[in-house]
Amino acid sequence: MTDPNCIFCKIINKEIPARIEFEDENLLAFHDIAPQAPTHVLVIPKKHIVDLDKTGPEDKALLGEILHRASEIAKSLGLNKDGFRVVNNMGVLGGQTVFHLHFHILGGRQMKWPPG
Ligand code: AMP
Repeated sequence: MTDPNCIFCKIINKEIPARIEFEDENLLAFHDIAPQAPTHVLVIPKKHIVDLDKTGPEDKALLGEILHRASEIAKSLGLNKDGFRVVNNMGVLGGQTVFHLHFHILGGRQMKWPPG
C-alpha cells in the first residue's frame, strides 16, 4: 500500500511535514510546496498508485472520492464562487514529477487555455 521511497507516502505517514487541508481513511489533501496559484492543494489517495494509467476498475470508487473531495475542498476554501481548476498530470509528457497519483486544485487567479 505504501512505497518507502515515495515522498507522498512519507507525507501520508507523517515522516515529512505538510500543511494538511483534509484527511480521512482513504485520502489526504495538503498544500503544494511550490504553489502555482494563490491556492494550490494536492489531493492524493493513501494507497500508493503510481499514476492515472495504473488505476483499474477496482479504483473507480476511489477516483470518484478524489474528485468529490476536490470539489468539497474547493468549496471550503471559497474557490467555487469564481472558479478553479483540477489537474492530473500523467507521465513524462503530461508533466508528472511525483509518481504517486495526485490531483491538483488550483484557484485564486485566472487560468489560461491551452495549458503549458
Ligand atoms: P506533478 O508535477 O503533477 O507530479 O506535481 C507534483 C507536485 O508535488 C508539484 O506541484 C510539487 O510542487 C509538489 N510537491 C513536491 N514535493 C512536495 C512536498 N514535500 N510537499 C508538498 N508538495 C510537494
